[in-house]
Amino acid sequence: MIPKNHPRYHSLVLRDKIVKAHKDGILADSGMIAHGRGEAFDYLIGEKTSDPAKKSIKAAAASLLLAHNPVLSVNGNTAALVADEIVELSEILDAKIEINLFYRTPERVDVIEDVLKQAGASEILGVNSDNLKYIDGIESPRATASQTGIYAADVVLVPLEDGDRAEILVNSGKKIITIDLNPLSRTAQMSSITIVDNIVRVIPLLKENVLFLKEKDNEYIENILKSFNNKKNLKESLKIIEIKKTN
Ligand code: ATP
Ligand code: MG
Repeated sequence: MIPKNHPRYHSLVLRDKIVKAHKDGILADSGMIAHGRGEAFDYLIGEKTSDPAKKSIKAAAASLLLAHNPVLSVNGNTAALVADEIVELSEILDAKIEINLFYRTPERVDVIEDVLKQAGASEILGVNSDNLKYIDGIESPRATASQTGIYAADVVLVPLEDGDRAEILVNSGKKIITIDLNPLSRTAQMSSITIVDNIVRVIPLLKENVLFLKEKDNEYIENILKSFNNKKNLKESLKIIEIKKTN
């Protein structure tokens, strides 16, 4: 048991979830390492949602609402940390959910499918029986996507994505929204909208923003996107990680 007054309480609770998910076969070994890299950046931003992150979350909500075929991509870390919240978000957006793994094995796909079903998902793409295609004919395991999901999507939310795959998705003309605590990662740098914040804080806020914007007209939603500049926003996120000198 982690004592509630421990200064790193929330961080340690998440770490426990990640360790358990690894034991359950939800996470590949590298998923634990990716979490550690995320933890370090979270520490540097003060473990809270910054103003630039709030702006990018609003832009992400606008983009997902304007999409014709939005897809929420789920990997091991996402399933381990926010399965319930992702399923809820997919329902209010009428967006598809697709399992998308960098280290894809049939076993891990099955375990993640179970986690999402337990969270209430009715339709899950990218499962073992799905007909996966190669994006733009790139015959690499990193370019696979479900025919009715990411392959056909115009807007894709890909939290904690790998740089190579993000590049393939962006080059295929899709609008890519990513959640990545590292503002310097290739994924963060090349995505259309980058949310530099912890996924556990982002998804509930994204849901709130979607519910608010759903009541607005298209012009209002489009204006949010027009006034958003991802490069500028990333620079603002970087400024927050300013290492303070002690003397
Ligand atoms: P890239 O391939 O895009 O250059 P990378 O190689 O640094 O990135 P990956 O392991 O491919 O990193 O992706 C994991 C990314 O997810 C890391 O940048 C890490 O900071 C981020 N990350 C890990 N845990 C979280 C979390 N809970 N919320 C948000 N981001 C996270
Ligand atoms: Mg990578």
